[in-house]
Amino acid sequence: MSAPAGTERFPVDTLRTRLSGRVLIPGDPEYDDARLIALGGLDPSPAAIARPVHDDDVAAVVSFAREHGVPLAVRGGGHSGAAHGTVNDGLVLDLRDMTALDVDADARTVWADAGLTAGDVTKALSPYGLAVGFGDTATVGIGGITLGGGVGFLSRRYGLTIDNLLAADVVTADGQVRRVSADHEPELFWGIRGGGGNFGVVTRFQLRLEAISQVVGGMLLLRATSEALAAVMVAAQNSPEELSPIVNVMPCPPIPGVPAEHHGTLVIMCELCAVGSTADGEAAVAPFRAAGEVLLDGVAPRPYAELFAEEGPAFRPVVRGTSLFLDAVDADLAVAIMERLEAADGMRVVQLRPLGGAIARVPADATAYAHRDRRLMGYVAAILGPGEDAQGPSDWVAGTADLLRQGDDGVYVNFLFDEGHERVRAAYPGATWDRLTALKARVDPTNLFRRNQNIPPAR
Ligand SMILES: Cc1cc2nc3c(=O)[nH]c(=O)nc-3n(C[C@H](O)[C@H](O)[C@H](O)COP(=O)(O)OP(=O)(O)OC[C@H]3O[C@@H](n4cnc5c(N)ncnc54)[C@H](O)[C@@H]3O)c2cc1C
Repeated sequence: MSAPAGTERFPVDTLRTRLSGRVLIPGDPEYDDARLIALGGLDPSPAAIARPVHDDDVAAVVSFAREHGVPLAVRGGGHSGAAHGTVNDGLVLDLRDMTALDVDADARTVWADAGLTAGDVTKALSPYGLAVGFGDTATVGIGGITLGGGVGFLSRRYGLTIDNLLAADVVTADGQVRRVSADHEPELFWGIRGGGGNFGVVTRFQLRLEAISQVVGGMLLLRATSEALAAVMVAAQNSPEELSPIVNVMPCPPIPGVPAEHHGTLVIMCELCAVGSTADGEAAVAPFRAAGEVLLDGVAPRPYAELFAEEGPAFRPVVRGTSLFLDAVDADLAVAIMERLEAADGMRVVQLRPLGGAIARVPADATAYAHRDRRLMGYVAAILGPGEDAQGPSDWVAGTADLLRQGDDGVYVNFLFDEGHERVRAAYPGATWDRLTALKARVDPTNLFRRNQNIPPAR
């Protein structure tokens, strides 16, 4: 019998003898589910998927990949827009069997294994009345989001996820397990706060927690007009930092509670979350409610963890997208955004996220996320319909991004798709890039960890 495709490239049986966890190959019952990632339109075919259960397993996989010259992908929640959580004919190090979580409620810290998702951690912390900010989506892995930065519902008040990272355990390319923090291997600790998975596999994170149980939050849906969008953006840009609004302009999905006549028409979907007192939270969201015709008001006092509710069956969209920073969205730009969306067919999204607050109070060189002074993050995406050719949607995304882009061409690394080296470079402005490439040369000189938004070793 011939070996499954790809496995003839390296001795999977040898790998199996080195791990306590499983190693799945094509033909194994669980392989087909395990190989999938969040991005649709792909047919990932890794030669093997290793599912480590502890740090020594992770170190064994890393050493095996290095010794055998095997292309290696590291998978946490599988939400990379560039499909970096898998690799055809290579080895996937899938962290999803590492899910321990250890809360120290008195110290307000948690150690969370990298196989957990944002939703897993948020829900586990909820009974303690504690939280740490990730993004806006339950299924995103804490590994990918934290290593790239982490912008979400709590960022303007408490900073990015990395601003709350106290320590981490990292398996580097030499197979060593290193505990890094501000006091221990500070340069590596600096690099993993924004530099992605370039420096090793993080097996667990220690995060600082805040006392957050109740928030004023949920989804507010407005009929989209340029006037309403301009008013929403005035509200968003003037929000107190206790509110980290996420504004999406897009065709209305078939949301229960929204009359069918609105499905497919352009709406402004505001994802709102205000921390602090209920009265202050209600005051912070009031300008959004007043900005236009409300189609659905799901904003209410509720436990923070409810914003990370279980989603339905896995949705694997085929997406073309890009991201950028802006300084402001004024009335003219609101008109232009609406015209752009009105002229498009299919599911097209412009997302706008005010930044500032605690994000901007961290010095640009304190972490590898250096865009501390940028005021707004924009994200443009086209979700392809079944069989839809990608060229039109890609052109629409590029044209819309050109319309929005203001200032330099900087970008948040976690919102990059597969956009090439220059775009990765743009994620790390100024001295940040040189510092990252020097660190890479020291801890991963052969670029073993290259299936990511890659920072090559300095020569
Ligand atoms: C629906 C959706 C919503 C999103 N919302 C937000 C948001 O609100 N805010 C935000 O900041 N981002 C958001 N993102 C972007 C997200 O943070 C990135 O795509 C992130 O990289 C996903 O992490 P993951 O672990 O799920 O993905 P994976 O595909 O598993 O990993 C992504 C990258 O990180 C590396 N990696 C993952 N875990 C580790 C680890 N433990 N050690 C070393 N390397 C690792 C992988 O190798 C890969 O290069 C969103 C993405 C999607 C698809």
